[in-house]
Amino acid sequence: MFSKCDSPNNNTPCLLRSGLEIAQYVINGISLEKEMENFSKADFIEEECRYSKDRKTFEIIKGKAKVLDAVERFARTILLMNPSESVFPRCDKCFGVKLTKEVYDSIHDGPFPLSGSGKTIRRSVEYCPECEEEPRGGIIKQDPADDEDLRIIRSGLDNKL
Ligand SMILES: [Zn+2]
Repeated sequence: MFSKCDSPNNNTPCLLRSGLEIAQYVINGISLEKEMENFSKADFIEEECRYSKDRKTFEIIKGKAKVLDAVERFARTILLMNPSESVFPRCDKCFGVKLTKEVYDSIHDGPFPLSGSGKTIRRSVEYCPECEEEPRGGIIKQDPADDEDLRIIRSGLDNKL
């Protein structure tokens, strides 16, 4: 069934083979979530990959979200799990896999523009690479940690009043 993937003339990564490997690990007791997380770090994740819905006609797909989607669908099909479900969040609009990106916000809490402590905050943002722009960090006026400190101080005062 997978003989086409072994063609020596084609170095394009085959997602059917990856899906099969993932399914085998899951059968051996590793969770699909863990396997997909590992696969999302594969060195070819941003490259052109081969995939086939019917295992006869192969198509080239590219893009991390699409590659993850195709591999997980195939692994789920082998495992007799619902292929429409995903360990990743799905986009409401295109039903594609959403990715998570770490962005850094700079805190400019000083009195003048671009002044302040120069601290940055890292946060994870989920986005759909098909429907949304890749998220970037921004500039924020106040450190959310300071907000949290103020809230605790205020709630302490409320209790005393
Ligand atoms: Zn989308």
